[in-house]
Amino acid sequence: MITPNQLHHLGEFGLIARWRNQLSQRAGVRLGIGDDAAVLDSLQVPIVTCDGLVEKVHFRRDWTAPRALGRKAISVNVSDIAAMGGRPVAAFITIAIGPNDDLEFLEELYAGFEEAAADYNLSIAGGDTVRSPTELMLNITVIGDAPMPILRSGAQVGDLLLVTGTLGDSAAGLALLQNPSLTVPAAAGTYLLQRHHDPTARLAEMQAALQMSPVTGQLASVPPDVTAALDISDGLAGDAAHMAECSLVSLEIEVAQLPISPSCQETAAIMGVSALDWALRGGEDYELLLCVPSHLAHDVQERITKATGTQVTVIGRCVPRTSDAVILIYPDGTRAAAGSAFSHF
Ligand code: ADP
Ligand code: MG
Repeated sequence: MITPNQLHHLGEFGLIARWRNQLSQRAGVRLGIGDDAAVLDSLQVPIVTCDGLVEKVHFRRDWTAPRALGRKAISVNVSDIAAMGGRPVAAFITIAIGPNDDLEFLEELYAGFEEAAADYNLSIAGGDTVRSPTELMLNITVIGDAPMPILRSGAQVGDLLLVTGTLGDSAAGLALLQNPSLTVPAAAGTYLLQRHHDPTARLAEMQAALQMSPVTGQLASVPPDVTAALDISDGLAGDAAHMAECSLVSLEIEVAQLPISPSCQETAAIMGVSALDWALRGGEDYELLLCVPSHLAHDVQERITKATGTQVTVIGRCVPRTSDAVILIYPDGTRAAAGSAFSHF
């Protein structure tokens, strides 16, 4: 067992040296950890995203293993790069180490960073290490390349609305963590917790949609087959509203079409809550919402599923702007404004 005291003896530079040994450098980074700044190869159109994670706000040590936390911290950033139509190149990690952190925890965390970096073919190319008087804090910045960035503002009236994967799984996983006495079938529990702790950024899916080279980022078809995209991190209803506002359109969503996994439905039924509500308002799904010209939608759907195995569902369409940004259409034809999403404050 390595004590916090040993962490103290190792010091900042000892720690960085250990982490450096855990990390591999991949194409696109000329000089990674070790100098005053990283040196990258030139990019066509650099895109940058960052995300902060604070213990007890965004994760709990008793719920999340450090390796999964490391993977998730990288995945959520790569999800933003994917949603822009980019490929990730380098990640930078600022870590504020609290008094409860030990070397074992930090090495597992970095093992998770490296696993995800390998999955998405990026390099951890630097960061900063500071002390926190209380909790662990992480900030991750990812730099990517998007020769033709796909914005939230590009949706056109007549486009179809596509979503990858299933919605609500992460919220269902969180509900299981919050209600430990609840019994659900083991396979459902394992699946939902994994979706909550270790989401996959839909990078390969976006690259398939755009027919994009994962190496050069070049698109096979210009203009791109996707007119607008975002990753669903705060719930479909709210995130779709962002897209509608940016694109000056309204989005109609067919409630009956929303892809909800059997595990999510089963868990909602056991808890007596609405799986639809998790799908619309639960956070952290990290699925992609895509707007695609209607004549291309079938091709895009097929390309994604063929390349990745991920299901893609048409859930609605872009219509001329009305007073409601997002309109839910129920099977009986009833229409309702979708309301708002989870707010962090
Ligand atoms: P400086 O004092 O010049 O800012 P540091 O001593 O903070 O440099 O960092 C030394 C090297 O280690 C740099 O390349 C930096 O990017 C890297 N680094 C520092 N902290 C981390 C970290 N938490 N994760 C990855 N790389 C780090
Ligand atoms: Mg320096």
